[in-house]
Amino acid sequence: MAVTSFNFDNTYAKDLEGFYAPGHADPAPAPKLLKLNTALAIELGLDPDQLNAAEIFSGNQPPEGATVIAQAYAGHQFGNFVPQLGDGRALLLGEVIDIHGQRRDIQLKGSGRTAFSRGGDGKAAVGPVLREYLMGEGMHALGIPTTRALAAVATGQPVFRETRLPGAVLTRVASSHIRVGTFQFFAARQAYDKVKKLADYSIARHYPELAKDPNPYLAFLNSVCDRQASLIAKWVHVGFIHGVMNTDNMAISGETIDYGPCAFMDRYSPSTVFSSIDRQGRYAFANQPVIARWNLARLAETLLPLIDNDDKVAIEKATNAVNNFTDLYDHYWLEGMRAKLGLKGEPQPGDLLLATGFLAAMDGQNIDYTLAFRSLAEKRSPSEAWAEAWQERNPDPALILQNNPLYILRNHRVEAALAAATEQNNLEPFETLLEVITQPFTERPGLEAYTQPAPLESEPYRTFCGT
Ligand code: AMP
Ligand code: MG
Repeated sequence: MAVTSFNFDNTYAKDLEGFYAPGHADPAPAPKLLKLNTALAIELGLDPDQLNAAEIFSGNQPPEGATVIAQAYAGHQFGNFVPQLGDGRALLLGEVIDIHGQRRDIQLKGSGRTAFSRGGDGKAAVGPVLREYLMGEGMHALGIPTTRALAAVATGQPVFRETRLPGAVLTRVASSHIRVGTFQFFAARQAYDKVKKLADYSIARHYPELAKDPNPYLAFLNSVCDRQASLIAKWVHVGFIHGVMNTDNMAISGETIDYGPCAFMDRYSPSTVFSSIDRQGRYAFANQPVIARWNLARLAETLLPLIDNDDKVAIEKATNAVNNFTDLYDHYWLEGMRAKLGLKGEPQPGDLLLATGFLAAMDGQNIDYTLAFRSLAEKRSPSEAWAEAWQERNPDPALILQNNPLYILRNHRVEAALAAATEQNNLEPFETLLEVITQPFTERPGLEAYTQPAPLESEPYRTFCGT
């Protein structure tokens, strides 16, 4: 039986004093619920009908049992280390044990200034909040580990960016918000007792099986590398570009986190960049595994004193762990590509060449990445020579349809939905798009328009930071 109250058990606040600052949300003058994720609410043990959602998820009414905090973290932003970032516009309400027994963070994003806000206003606008809502739910529907969206509430208060925009708060659910940057915060201050405490906490929360390992911290590093390798391969399989893979935006749980200027690639080109702030292409599509490994090397550095007392030994062990990321990634990537190409049975030596050959045939041809894979189910392919070798492997159309989405978050659809919500108070395009992309693999009549990329002549797509 669902209940109205949150089943809070706030271990981060309880066990990790010194890792956060207390906070409270700014009052929202006229909170209006834009969207509640009722299925997720039920998963969290809540009764959606009994929830005063607008008040709770605007931050006006902290639910009973919440311990409202802003978490400390540092991070490398576009390669430059910033020793203090932290939750500048987010507040952790606490942790809930869901109906499956899983511990989940409930966080408000855009609820006002905190001890970590620096010059920022701590707020968010309706557009970026709904973008993160769509992205999180879309990735989840694709089977990709991600933070989720529980609610979006308009505050009734404007935020000032380049223009005046309607303000909103996103309620985000994550298996935790511990980032590579959380480790960096304490390592940068040489607070190795705290790094150890955080590592022990992270192991207990996300990798409990490692607690008994003879070297739990090295095992932890290996496991984070493994989960990240699996995650980034999944991004690449669906053409997702995160856009801001800074170390503060990399969760040690292996979930996708912090959807800002992210997008799905339409026409295949490995150098695709969407974010307007990524002028060097650091976080380009094909660079994502390289950057993930770079970020994991930053995590490794923070763990060195825990891995071994002897510096040289610690560095060697940590370096091996990080270098192993490439093999893990290649493994996950090929495994996923085999499924996308409908290749069944035992892996064969020619599979890698089939996978890379398919992409090479697409490159620079203005071919839609998503549709190219999907049309393999009808035995259509970008190149005849390639198709011949592929057919010899007797590909399975059902496997292809299960592993290649038909409906993804097309950039022009996202923009249209956010514009309608922001400019006309019209949530219909958002609702429809959400419904379409939460069943990404199932073809449904009447939705043909949602399968198509934007017309070629439209401007190159750019997304902006969700600040
Ligand atoms: P992000 O771009 O969300 O990864 O955020 C990077 C850092 O900037 C984090 O420490 C955020 O808390 C902070 N930040 C981003 N936007 C704001 C804002 N409007 N007000 C205060 N801090 C912000
Ligand atoms: Mg961030």
